[in-house]
Amino acid sequence: MDTALKPAPETVHPATFPSKAFAARSATSGLAPFTMQRRIPRPQDVQIEILYCGVCHSDLHQVRDEWNMIMPTVYPCVPGHEIVGRVVKVGRDVKKLKEGDIAAVGCMVDSCRKCASCLAGEEQYCENFMTLTYNGEDKILGGVTYGGYSDSIVVDQNYVLRVTNGLDPAGAAPLLCAGITTYSPMHHWGVTKGKKVGVVGLGGLGHMGVKFAHALGAHTVVFTTSPGKKDDAIRLGADEVVISRNSDEMAKHAGSFDFILDAVAAEHDINAFINLLRRDGNITMVGAPETPLAVDVFGLLFRRRSFSGSLIGGIAETQEMLDFCGKNNITSDVEVIPIQKVDESYERLVKSDVKYRFSIDMASLKSE
Ligand code: NAP
Ligand code: ZN
Ligand code: ZN
Repeated sequence: MDTALKPAPETVHPATFPSKAFAARSATSGLAPFTMQRRIPRPQDVQIEILYCGVCHSDLHQVRDEWNMIMPTVYPCVPGHEIVGRVVKVGRDVKKLKEGDIAAVGCMVDSCRKCASCLAGEEQYCENFMTLTYNGEDKILGGVTYGGYSDSIVVDQNYVLRVTNGLDPAGAAPLLCAGITTYSPMHHWGVTKGKKVGVVGLGGLGHMGVKFAHALGAHTVVFTTSPGKKDDAIRLGADEVVISRNSDEMAKHAGSFDFILDAVAAEHDINAFINLLRRDGNITMVGAPETPLAVDVFGLLFRRRSFSGSLIGGIAETQEMLDFCGKNNITSDVEVIPIQKVDESYERLVKSDVKYRFSIDMASLKSE
């Protein structure tokens, strides 16, 4: 990440139009109305009127500059990378979408397209760093990219996704980050029928992980710190629920899991979960706590277990996931909020009080 990122230029670029948004001015300011410029679509671009944008815990980490060591925040910061909207304009070279289509944008809006990762369709691991949807380097207008807490976005067609007709747009928005981030590692690590799979943390990512593990036919176990989420976990598709702070309940599952997905946003004891893996089992971290986790290597050495990470997913895989959701009628369980309640939603995220994703109704921006 270019740590020398600058805010977008104050001067209005001739080929831009104004877009309403909510932005954070500092790590402690909260979010407030903000107007920024979007580029007028180039021949390869799609202009989208944003209908809904999910609230990812990453938005909170970024807005509060909790990832300062790796991705310092440039203010004003307009977060949002779970975007669903209606196509309102397309450039003359755009083939895959037309005006009126429902389209989506996730965590990246470009990448180098030349490196081995890009050529392999794993643009999220672009060796020249993907262009993040927000707090990335805007290679066209200069300055920093602005995300989906806004009424419009303009993106190169190669980084725009199609949403299956009929999927509820408010519930589909979170698929663009929470969905692909849980779907991708499950495919990579071979989650199928007959496997025993754990999902740690029943928040936005976790509840999508449960839906996918269940849909893929795995025996699915949820690990939660919130006893009040037990019934929901079962309704979402879990076969068993374990209160992770109860060591007796944890001990019953020692050495039994093929795969565990850890979607916890805060510091926690990872070794307690490593010990639940069988020989050659894998635990993948998708949660991104701001402080390092202490790993007891002996837990890995015995039984040749592995501990890895995973970042969102590539564009083709994101489309595959959206199509899978279209076919199986999978969306996120959302609480729809007006944008004026976004600060409150962050406070609730910190308290694990989310069922199970906030989705901002962007019509609420019109009154600003
Ligand atoms: P979220 O909705 O806030 O869910 C996080 C869940 O973690 C909570 O609901 C809670 O579940 C559990 N949790 C919270 N604090 C905990 C603690 N101290 N100890 C144990 N469990 C705790 O967050 P999210 O949007 O799903 O995001 C989760 C993490 O993934 C964030 O760090 C985010 O930045 C990261 N992320 C990574 C990627 C990627 O590409 N790798 C993509 C998106 C997000 P219970 O109540 O069930 O315990
Ligand atoms: Zn996200
Ligand atoms: Zn690349």
